[in-house]
Amino acid sequence: MELLKKENLKGLPLPDLEKRILEMGHPAFRAKQLYRWIYKERETDFEKMTDLSKDFRKTLQEKFELPQIEVSETHPSDDGTIKYLVKLSDGEQVESVFIPTEGRVTLCVSTQVGCKMACSFCATGYQKFVRDLKAWEIVDQLMSIPHPRPITNIVLMGMGEPFDNYEEVMKALQLFNDPRGLKIGKRHITVSTVGITDKIQSFIDASLGKLAISLHGTTDEQRASIMPINAKFPLPELMDTCRKLKFKGTERITFEYILIKDLNDSDADALRLVKLVQGIPVKINLLAYNENPFIDFKRPSEERVLKFQNILLKHHLTSTYRRSRGRDVAAACGQLRIEAENRLKRKAWEKLKGIPPLHSSTFAPEPVLGA
Ligand code: SF4
Repeated sequence: MELLKKENLKGLPLPDLEKRILEMGHPAFRAKQLYRWIYKERETDFEKMTDLSKDFRKTLQEKFELPQIEVSETHPSDDGTIKYLVKLSDGEQVESVFIPTEGRVTLCVSTQVGCKMACSFCATGYQKFVRDLKAWEIVDQLMSIPHPRPITNIVLMGMGEPFDNYEEVMKALQLFNDPRGLKIGKRHITVSTVGITDKIQSFIDASLGKLAISLHGTTDEQRASIMPINAKFPLPELMDTCRKLKFKGTERITFEYILIKDLNDSDADALRLVKLVQGIPVKINLLAYNENPFIDFKRPSEERVLKFQNILLKHHLTSTYRRSRGRDVAAACGQLRIEAENRLKRKAWEKLKGIPPLHSSTFAPEPVLGA
């Protein structure tokens, strides 16, 4: 007899779960109980949900499942950062990063397998797009990875462009926010986009997290040279959209700016940046490029970064300089997945050639750019 595939109940915000439970002929309060078990208690076995009636548990057991992602590799860094390679139920892999700092513990989550945006400074940008993550796969990076400390902040800055997977990301944000469940809260959630301008106002209106925009260039030409999305949403249009945004409160936009040696790190760039963001409530997050073996860009000196920041500060622009975390564990976005794929390719090649395995964790038989 063919087994019926069970329906996944993870990833439904409470109103959707209530709808599904009502459709089954059970009262809405059952959905609230179930929701608490799934997201507050993080229970995956319906049998252990002891305040649900036996009959209801039996129905849940027969028809539904609460799947979990799996950690396939854990890479702890000397600075406390932990990079995880996460295996999804179809065998695809994404990355999550645990970043402890004083007073907070941030989890950086992925939203897509691969990415369509092809930013030339990003290791993920060189991997082909495979698929969007479902809302449950996004929140499960918080729920099912055994993090050493409770997570207080979430950033959607891992693999993928969140606004290119808008609906599932918005569902995940509802779940991250909900005080009845995961309880992170919108002031502790940041969504980073390359600037898909037609989604920005609706994201602000939904009020489920803070907005960060990857800028990385101060002229249209310069930005286009490293971010292909600039052809669809050019820099002047992006800045115009930001200038016209209607905020409900006193929010401001964070612009992420990665300084790349001799590309966008000059004094002239800093001055152009000051002009570019005039009239927009902003904070600038500076990062120095995180070098990796797959891409040729170089990291500017510490002195150069601080000089760039000083120019912003002199012009009264709030700016922070975030030092890269986990540099010793391939923490550049997408780097770990490339390395894992290379190891698989190496293993397959060895098997084919009858060669005994090489005991290296980062062997790259050939560059996989554009793979
Ligand atoms: S930086 Fe973000 S949007 Fe650009 S390629 Fe990498 S993952 Fe995609």
